[in-house]
Amino acid sequence: MSLLVPHLQRALAKTAQAGLTRTLRPAALAPAGRINRDGRQCVDFSSNDYLGLALHPLLIERSREWAGRYGAGSGSSRLVTGTHDAHLAVEAKIAAFKGTEAALLFASGWQANAAVIPALVAAMPGVAVFTDRLNHGSMHAGCAAAGVRQHRFAHNDLDALTGLLERHAAAPARLILTESVFSMDGDRVDLARLAQIARDHEAILYIDEAHATGVLGPRGAGLSATVTGGVDIAMGTFSKAMGSFGAYIAGSRMLCDYLVNACGGFIYTTAPPPAVLGAIDAALDIVPDMDADRERLAGLADRLRGGLVGAGFDVAASSTQIVPAIVGDAAAAMALSERLAANGMIAAAIRPPTVPAGTSRLRIALRATHAEADIDALIAAVAAGA
Ligand code: PMP
Repeated sequence: MSLLVPHLQRALAKTAQAGLTRTLRPAALAPAGRINRDGRQCVDFSSNDYLGLALHPLLIERSREWAGRYGAGSGSSRLVTGTHDAHLAVEAKIAAFKGTEAALLFASGWQANAAVIPALVAAMPGVAVFTDRLNHGSMHAGCAAAGVRQHRFAHNDLDALTGLLERHAAAPARLILTESVFSMDGDRVDLARLAQIARDHEAILYIDEAHATGVLGPRGAGLSATVTGGVDIAMGTFSKAMGSFGAYIAGSRMLCDYLVNACGGFIYTTAPPPAVLGAIDAALDIVPDMDADRERLAGLADRLRGGLVGAGFDVAASSTQIVPAIVGDAAAAMALSERLAANGMIAAAIRPPTVPAGTSRLRIALRATHAEADIDALIAAVAAGA
């Protein structure tokens, strides 16, 4: 018996005792806001494929084409032989989309946050780091890897942030890490005000646009594109509204030059493969012209929030395609999710530690390809306790 067994057994038993055991279940996206799971087709309210691009023929075709042209793998890390023309062309296209001088590809959003934050901190010894309490785990991982103490402020409480910035005015540098759209509450930061606060307190702004990219901002470029002069560092993913996989960091040429030289998670990992680049390239071609889909998605979300609030649910401060229906108790949220699944609707229950204790919820994520009738059926089922 492996020496690992008693340790893992103890850890798993603890998770089980808390009623928080997680398991993997196979599923496959289907058109029209559907998903295939357990041998049947359900309505999907859990994926992040907000614009329905994961199944778009252009993404699939270009993915195939680039794999055929360049191969299945990129061969090595970016600084060795892994930078093909396609990487540079796609990075230039990302920068044009975001309205920044430059951009860099990363393997995933998790990796970008976990790797870029420590690289930035390394350039600024003594930097004071300010983080929203609801920031994604990958930003926490980045701070932990950087070995910095996070000065956390209550979710979206920019007055509290201002107080912290004032208290740390003597630090050699200040770095604010937050999200433009929060993944579990579906609310937004007031980015115009945040940018002003950052300017007033000489703080550097790092914005995670994982859930805004493709959905919000001019031509879907995210909320950082709405700020005059932009933000210092915009991170986003291609794995959600953009339909495929991978992530970007967008900002100045100097920022990207620095990361190429100093960011371990960029330097010591294999370059993204051509098939993924092809899908990203195709998404960048079509997403800017998808305003009608973005409007449709926003309308569906309004309809859902109206229905849920009417049924007595707290939807937090959601103002996007992500709508929480807060249940509170973890077991009750699980039970509701399971009853919905029995009725052919997949809306995942999100429990601690992903969300704070007592705020377990259904996290409902909409796709522009849902029908109004799908939303109405979900509202009716949730209101009836499914
Ligand atoms: N940031 C946020 C806010 C996210 O929600 C996620 C994905 N859940 C990530 C980063 C990680 O992105 P990826 O899935 O591409 O690793």
